[in-house]
Amino acid sequence: MKIRHGRITPFCLPLRRPLVTAHETLRVRDGFLLLLEVDDGRVGWGEASPLAGFGMESTEECRTTLERLTRHLLGRDVRELDALLDECGALAPAAPGARSAVDSALHDINARLAGASVASWLAARQSPGRVRQRIQVNALVSGMDECEVVEAARRDLANGFETFKLKVGGASLAHDLKRVLALRGTIESHHRMRVDANGAWSEEVATRALERLAQIGVEYVEQPVAATNLSAMARLRERALVPIAADESLRGEADAARLIERRAADLLVVKPAVAGGLRAAWRIAAAARDAGLEVVVTSSLDSAVAVASALQLAAALPGPLPACGLATSALLERDLASALPVQDGSLLLPNGPGLGVVPDAALLEKCASGPASELHA
Ligand SMILES: [Mg+2]
Repeated sequence: MKIRHGRITPFCLPLRRPLVTAHETLRVRDGFLLLLEVDDGRVGWGEASPLAGFGMESTEECRTTLERLTRHLLGRDVRELDALLDECGALAPAAPGARSAVDSALHDINARLAGASVASWLAARQSPGRVRQRIQVNALVSGMDECEVVEAARRDLANGFETFKLKVGGASLAHDLKRVLALRGTIESHHRMRVDANGAWSEEVATRALERLAQIGVEYVEQPVAATNLSAMARLRERALVPIAADESLRGEADAARLIERRAADLLVVKPAVAGGLRAAWRIAAAARDAGLEVVVTSSLDSAVAVASALQLAAALPGPLPACGLATSALLERDLASALPVQDGSLLLPNGPGLGVVPDAALLEKCASGPASELHA
C-alpha cells in the first residue's frame, strides 16, 4: 500500500478573542494541513501548527520540512509505520510540528486500513486494553479580572465542565490570587481547578503562590517557573504544597526522561503536536506511568484535526486519566472541520475509522491562507 500523493495546505485560524498567556498574546493560529493518499485512494490527515513558546520550528521551516518529509514518503509502504517515523525523526529532528503532521496522517491511514479508530489501533498494537469512549476535558477559563472570570466560569459550568483551568502569571500574584479565589468561589466544592503560570514566576514568587494555592485547593500548578529551570521545579515539587505539572519543559521524549530523572514534576502535560506525534506522545505517557507520574493529554490550540489526533491518544491510554486539555476548539473563530462537541464536560470518541474527523472542503477553502503544494510519486 504505497503512498502516492501528498498535499500541504497552509491555513490561518483566527481566535474568537485574543488569548493572553504569561508570555504572548495569540490572535491567530497559522499551520499546515497534510493529506497523504495511498494506492487505493484512501487518505490520512495530519496538522502542523508550530506553537511559539515551545521551541518549535518556525512556520516557514515547518512548510519546507513538511514538503521534504512528504517527498521522502512518496512511493513507500504506509504499513512500515515505525521505519517511516524513525526516518522522519532522523531527517527532521528539530521540526516536531512537521513530524507530528506526518505521524498523524500515517496513523490515520493505518487505522483506516484496519477498519479501526486510531485509538483502537494504538491500544491493540501497543498495549491491549479498553478504549475510552468519553474523555473528560477541562474548561480554559478566560477573564482578566474577577468579574470576567466569574462570568466565564458560569458559562463553562452551564456546559457541564467539572475541571477548570486558569492562566496566571500575566499580572501580579495578588491580582492572580483574586482571580483564582473568584473561580473557586464560582465553581462547586467537588470541582477541580488547576492553574497555569506558563513559566512566568520566579522560584520565590512560585513558592508564595503555591503556599496560597495549597490553602485554596488546586489540583495542580502547570509550569510554575521557567521551562529550563528543572532544579527549581524539583525543589517546588519536593515541598509537596501543590502537585507540579510540566508543560513547556516537555518538548519530546528526551525532556520527559530528564523530568522523570530529576523528579521535577508530578504530572506531565503531553501534547502530541509538540512531542512530534502520537508515537512519541505514547512513549512519553508510558515512561511517565512507569515512573508513577500522571499525564494529561492536551491540544496546542490547533484545528479539529490535531484535536482529534490528541483525543484518539487520550482514549487509548491505559490507567486513570485526569481531565484533558482538549476543549479548545471553541476558542477558534473558524476551523477546518466541525469541532467535536463537549457534552457534560467530556468529548466523545468519534465513531468513524481513523481520526474520526475529516476536514471539510468548504471550511478549508475559507481558512486556506495560500496555494497548496501537490506532491506526486
Ligand atoms: Mg500549559
